[in-house]
Amino acid sequence: MSQHPQFLLRAEEMPTHWYNLLADFPEPLPPPLHPGTREPVTPDLMTALFPESLVMQEMSPERQIEIPQEVRDVYALYRPTPLLRAVRLEKALQTPAHIYYKYEGVSPAGSHKPNTAIPQAYYNKVAGTKRLATETGAGQWGSSLAFACSVFGLECNIYMVNVSFHQKPYRKLLMQTYGATVHSSPSDQTEFGRKVLAADPHSTGSLGIAISEAIEDTAKNPGTKYALGSVLNHVCLHQSVIGQEAIKQMAMAGEDPDIIIGCAGGGSNFAGIAFPFVQRKITEGKNYRIIAVEPESCPSLTKGELRYDFGDTAETTPLMMMHTLGHTFMPPSIHAGGLRYHGMAPMVSHCKKLGLIDAIAVPQIKVFKAAVQFARTEGIVPAPESSHAIAVAIDEAIKCREENRKKVIVFNLSGNGLLDLAAYDTYLSGKMHETGNDD
Ligand SMILES: *Cc1c(COP(=O)(O)O)cnc(C)c1O
Repeated sequence: MSQHPQFLLRAEEMPTHWYNLLADFPEPLPPPLHPGTREPVTPDLMTALFPESLVMQEMSPERQIEIPQEVRDVYALYRPTPLLRAVRLEKALQTPAHIYYKYEGVSPAGSHKPNTAIPQAYYNKVAGTKRLATETGAGQWGSSLAFACSVFGLECNIYMVNVSFHQKPYRKLLMQTYGATVHSSPSDQTEFGRKVLAADPHSTGSLGIAISEAIEDTAKNPGTKYALGSVLNHVCLHQSVIGQEAIKQMAMAGEDPDIIIGCAGGGSNFAGIAFPFVQRKITEGKNYRIIAVEPESCPSLTKGELRYDFGDTAETTPLMMMHTLGHTFMPPSIHAGGLRYHGMAPMVSHCKKLGLIDAIAVPQIKVFKAAVQFARTEGIVPAPESSHAIAVAIDEAIKCREENRKKVIVFNLSGNGLLDLAAYDTYLSGKMHETGNDD
């Protein structure tokens, strides 16, 4: 075998359908509720925000949904993505475990997020939408949607959480390079933003506030629809290309994983790697241990309650049954900006409730220690978000060493960290704290 085995699929082996776990849940997912009546939402409430095709996917009971050829053509820019075996990391850890990673950082935006940005922009274009409004935290979602909008000729208006707008100028520039307009949120562009600013002129913002601004922008501007980069069922659906490819690639490697790991912010990249394996757990009785990893400072799955809650701060979204820290929760400004969301995807929350997955929370400094070890052995500088998955993969591999047992571990490397080097600087210079308040 080669020194650094890669498992590469041919172009024609890219999935032709998305996999929908809603079809296989042993118990149905509780429906979203109307914020006023608390009755299950009707599609017309959703079509104010999203094109009908995406609303249908959000509620679809179909197991397999065909990926339009136009979407596959854009996916082909970077898909299928590689699966690699981390032999140098294994060696450094002196572990009998085999560690594999699925690498989504090869996309144009550097993360898994284009997997859903591309179909969302496509379905909007087909439905006659002229402009998309959205929010972004650290900017990974904004840059992914900006890229997808540029491909399909849509305008893109982005509310970027204030703290990142100022601390992460490169992602803002990436969005602008793709042709998007970017506002610091809270902004003076919306009534809600002005209200938040009036109460606190120095507000550093939050994803919940930025979502409220993007939704208000959508309601007030004809021809505009809204796009969300995580949490919703149709986003988890689109991300299923990750796990479907990984299953084929693990078969090429001739191994079946014992442990599957993904980091979880809103839950979409975790859903992407995990749900095709969850299906096998449900339908084939496989005994996979599937772990969602979140930051200790924003622990919705491990510490949040499972209940109906709003997706945004202004209480405009439907109520979703999810693990939540409360829609007014202000997460500390940790460096994994993509994991600072108060809630967790209803489908991921439901998996946890049904005992199909586990969740672990890890502290920030441990995450960066793992990130640096990965960079120094495997060469890829991982995104801080993805490094949560690496930290748990390393822990599991060390357990294998201690127990002298071989296990096969796969994790999703959801993105690269080349635009996050300022966070690495904070870590390497010893100025990083667990609380998020750096020196
Ligand atoms: C946005 C992001 C995440 C977190 O979002 P999920 O919806 O939980 O996947 C994780 N990793 C990277 C690289 C991201 O950009």
